[in-house]
This record gives sequence, structure tokens and C-alpha cells, in this order.
Amino acid sequence: MPAAADSPAAPSDPGGAAPLSRVALRGCCPRCGRGALLRGLLELRERCEACGLDLRAHDAGDGPAVGAIFLVGAAAMLGAFWVEFRFEPPLWVHALLWPALVLPASVLVMRVAKALLVALQWRHRRLGHGV
Ligand SMILES: [Zn+2]
Repeated sequence: MPAAADSPAAPSDPGGAAPLSRVALRGCCPRCGRGALLRGLLELRERCEACGLDLRAHDAGDGPAVGAIFLVGAAAMLGAFWVEFRFEPPLWVHALLWPALVLPASVLVMRVAKALLVALQWRHRRLGHGV
């Protein structure tokens, strides 16, 4: 595999695209791979600060939340059953443990899913192309 496949496209190249893995894991711009895609935890920026890509037309919809529900929810249920049957803790342990794990994991999964969905939208629909 050539090493150039992982390098970000030049900001002046409107047809270039950053690798999906980088965009999803780092939450960076799908075109240049340098500017931040998200502001705060989950809010999509209006424009890439590095290359100026207009991101206003992109919307991941409910996809990131669905990913969090399926992935984190299933993992939490399996974990809760395992902890219950292995250690038999009092209920207050479950009440403290699972929200402390599920809430940050949900935000992390939603950030990755949102960045991935916006990058796929940009690649296949080219919304905001040429801005
Ligand atoms: Zn950019």
C-alpha cells in the first residue's frame, strides 16, 4: 500500500479527501484533514477553519445516536449481566457504575459516528463543494 494514501489532501485541492479513519477518530475536516469538524462535544462547525469547506449543508441526523444505542447499549447490558452474576454487588453499585461508563462512551461513539457520516456525505454527495 502506498504511503501517500494516508496523507491528507492539500487544502487547495477541492477534489482531495482525508482518510476516513483519520476523520472519524480525530474528528477532523473530511477534505483537508487538518481543521476540526466538531465544536464542543457534538456540534458540527459551519466551516473548516483550515481549508474553508462549508459544512452547513451536512447533517448526520440520528445516525450517531443509533450507533451509540446499539453499540454502547449492548455492551452495557452484557457488562451489567456479567458484573451482577460474577460479583453480585448491591444495586447502588450498578446505579453508580453504569452511568459513569455509558455516558462518556456514548459521547465518544457519537463523535466518531458523526464525523464518519459527515465525511461519507461529503465524499458521495459533495455538499458544499467548491466553497
Ligand atoms: Zn478542511
